[in-house]
Amino acid sequence: MEKDCLFCKISHGQMKTDLLFENDHLVVFRDINPHAPVHLLIVPKRHIRSINDLTESDNRILAEMIMTARQMAKKEKVNVSGYKLLFNVEKGGGQVIFHLHLHLIGGWDK
Ligand code: 5GP
Ligand code: ZN
Repeated sequence: MEKDCLFCKISHGQMKTDLLFENDHLVVFRDINPHAPVHLLIVPKRHIRSINDLTESDNRILAEMIMTARQMAKKEKVNVSGYKLLFNVEKGGGQVIFHLHLHLIGGWDK
């Protein structure tokens, strides 16, 4: 766990946030500033700065993040209407929290 990292704190229960899903590897919660009716963040518990910092050994967590997003889309009833999955990478890519996270954005028809 990285000191002073907001998503480390949230994913380790050190900052109270309603979790929609949690297992040993990742958590899912709603974005505080949603860009659409459904805007979730899929966040690994282990601190990884960004997509740039992934290694071959991270293939499993990456796949798990995407498969969890897929399940959450179904749970939030946006799987049929459709949704976006987005990684912002580093400052120029719009990343402001430097702890890896996958955005699930959708529900425009709601
Ligand atoms: P980034 O731009 O780094 O890809 O996205 C970070 C996201 O985290 C932003 O969409 C922002 O609204 C969200 N966020 C920042 N602080 C908090 C927080 O304390 N709680 C929650 N739930 N979301 C946050
Ligand atoms: Zn972190």
